[in-house]
Amino acid sequence: MLETIKELNGFHQSDHKNGHVNGHSNGTASHADTENAKAKQAIETAVRTILTNVGEDPNREGLLGTPDRIARMYDEILAGYTTDPVKLVNNALFDVEYDDPVIVKEIEYFSMCEHHMLPFFGRAHIAYIPSDKVIGLSKIPRIVEMFARRLQVQERMTRQIAEMIDEVLQPQGVAVVVEGSHMCSMMRGVKKEHPRMMTSYMLGKYRKDKDLRREFMDQLRK
Ligand SMILES: [Zn+2]
Repeated sequence: MLETIKELNGFHQSDHKNGHVNGHSNGTASHADTENAKAKQAIETAVRTILTNVGEDPNREGLLGTPDRIARMYDEILAGYTTDPVKLVNNALFDVEYDDPVIVKEIEYFSMCEHHMLPFFGRAHIAYIPSDKVIGLSKIPRIVEMFARRLQVQERMTRQIAEMIDEVLQPQGVAVVVEGSHMCSMMRGVKKEHPRMMTSYMLGKYRKDKDLRREFMDQLRK
């Protein structure tokens, strides 16, 4: 099961960065550190290129530190690529006899749209009906965060959250609803109305049973 989760999350794609997180304990610079330094340098160069080509002077005082700040910021806001999904859920699964919906709502997230590299953000709401296991409450927001902190489209993020919970808990059903405000549509164009985008993904009983779905949607309105 654990390997499937890793693949599901594309975790294997960034093994060199993973080395940075888990690797060195002896204080010497590891291969991963060198790779990370190279990547950071490349991002800084790219930011300088953008600054120059939008008509800025990358050497003026206010911009001098910007390439470095952006490179370090990406490390944080795109950290989802290097979050180990197996570690994330380890020791947080509990056996229970309970088969009513577990609902966690109003989970705030911040992500980056992959089409424009601008933020989208909002709230995620999650329900699942346990089979025999539940997951620690704090882990659900961390699952959302792991998928949010990447270049994303809201639809895929919604599905990935649902599939991860399905994979980990093997529940009777999972429902994920995500609301998102997208800076790329808010900042561009002339219209001053900013519709929020709603996406949902249902698995198991939530896909089949419209009463269950309605019960979840009603909960979200409270
Ligand atoms: Zn966009």
